[in-house]
Amino acid sequence: MSKQDLLKTVETEIKACQQCGLWKSRNNTVAGEGNSNATVIFIGEAPGYREDLQGRPFVGAAGKLLDEMLLKVGLSRGEVYIGNILKCRPPDNRDPRPLEVKMCTPFLDRQIKIIEPKLIVSLGRHSSCYVLSKAGLKDIEGITRLRGKVYGMDLLGLRVLVIPTYHPAAALYSAKYRDGLEDDFRLLRLELEKLE
Ligand code: URA
Repeated sequence: MSKQDLLKTVETEIKACQQCGLWKSRNNTVAGEGNSNATVIFIGEAPGYREDLQGRPFVGAAGKLLDEMLLKVGLSRGEVYIGNILKCRPPDNRDPRPLEVKMCTPFLDRQIKIIEPKLIVSLGRHSSCYVLSKAGLKDIEGITRLRGKVYGMDLLGLRVLVIPTYHPAAALYSAKYRDGLEDDFRLLRLELEKLE
């Protein structure tokens, strides 16, 4: 099966998933989207209002900022993959609960293993904690201390570079976070150039 077909299989399972209570309030699942051969995966937290309505990741205000950041470093949505920790919207955009993360992240793990990215950009605290702790980092600190660095790690049997950064939704309301996000996207660009 091609990577695209394998991702479709995961997506079909996500659509049918009723493992945690979030399926009851969802309009759509948001499996993720993009290039099945992507070098870079961006991982957000969970779908918000617009994502739940459209079934696509990062299509609201935070998504516009993400698009802007991608453009600045010469990337398009079509060449990367964009996913989330949770595939269903938590009511009122509350934080993901530990049980929801536990039930949902096997889907994300499978997506990562299929795509085999070289770089993972984790957007925000939840996503960064999940990725870095999965890769074995201990005593994970807040995102402000984590970000601004590139972490070479073994994750799910893959050798990857992880770039933890602020969530674009946070950067919408804070110049400091926006500057940090931009700096981290520049780090991403540098790492991509090294891979070329
Ligand atoms: N915020 C996220 O973390 N993910 C989305 O898909 C949209 C907003």
